[in-house]
Amino acid sequence: MADLPLEPGQTIGILGGGQLGRMLAEAASRLGFDVAILDPEPDAPAGRVAAHRFVAGYDDPKALAALAAVASVVTYEFENVPAAAVAQLAGMGALVAPGPEALRVAQDRLAEKTFLNAHGAPTVAFAAADSAEAAVAAVEQVGAPALMKTRREGYDGKGQRWVEHAADAAKAFAELGGAPVIVEAAAAFERELSVIAARGRDGAIAVYPLAENHHEGGILRRSIAPARVSAAVADQAERIAARILAGLDYVGVIGVELFEMAGGQLLVNEIAPRVHNTGHWTQDGCDVDQFEQHIRAVAGWPLGPTAAVARVEMLNLLGDEAAGWRRFAAEPETRLHLYGKRDAKPGRKMGHINRVKGL
Ligand code: AMP
Repeated sequence: MADLPLEPGQTIGILGGGQLGRMLAEAASRLGFDVAILDPEPDAPAGRVAAHRFVAGYDDPKALAALAAVASVVTYEFENVPAAAVAQLAGMGALVAPGPEALRVAQDRLAEKTFLNAHGAPTVAFAAADSAEAAVAAVEQVGAPALMKTRREGYDGKGQRWVEHAADAAKAFAELGGAPVIVEAAAAFERELSVIAARGRDGAIAVYPLAENHHEGGILRRSIAPARVSAAVADQAERIAARILAGLDYVGVIGVELFEMAGGQLLVNEIAPRVHNTGHWTQDGCDVDQFEQHIRAVAGWPLGPTAAVARVEMLNLLGDEAAGWRRFAAEPETRLHLYGKRDAKPGRKMGHINRVKGL
């Protein structure tokens, strides 16, 4: 097992080479670490800024062994990391953070909501279904309209269907491929908020101010942070984040997506056991951003301050919007973050801008 804290000069492994891996690698490099990226894609954005890259599947035993040989601490940038990969890495002496329980919970919407409710983090009412008949019963139980989601592998609004009447549930279940689903009561939320938080190896917890988030077509478009919220809402978010982090014995940064209901009650929509798109504002709104915070946590370093030093509007640059970089680069209040992706497919996250304002 690695000795902690990790010393500058040592190597941190990252499963996944997308933009989150790239920004983690940049933060790690600022602290003097080398980074090793494992990603099936030869041209992955993070691989191009890393000291070591392994181009292979996440379940490739040889590549995992090579990763464990250079990196004593391994983390990841997406939640669908195979459990077997984590077990292999751990078996070879690598410290994997966040740990297997965080992955188990985040990979299955039923396990996730069950965990959240058991740890005092409220959610909408929900019911699970494994068959068309059970899907009808689940919608009857939670009440229509309801949102049916596949238990596994949905993201950016994919793998979801609104069900207006219980009678439509069997059709929605079939359209989602007949895979196990969770049926959620519709949340009549006022706003979507999120909280980014971190827990260190020593159990210390640091929570960033809330972000207010706006989605289009299931994809995050815009975040504003710190969100204008009451002290009661900020307190709830902190308490919810702390309960989740402690309940998972978590190490690293977590993203918690929230619904703000009328009257200010918060419900948790979902958790992401990684750095999160709604935390990109911290790059230009905080002294220590979510990427450095995550690296500090997994390396066994002290966590950094989370107070906002500026107010930020973060806008994702999707598809060919990043081609407008000249205009953004010319705006004095705008910080441009581009991911180096070659292929600007519609809706693909190519970069983001942080427009920095006074607090
Ligand atoms: P998710 O994939 O679970 O993050 O959901 C994507 C988006 O769908 C959320 O950001 C919400 O805008 C919306 N959504 C998810 N679950 C619910 C729900 N139970 N009620 C109302 N809207 C929801």
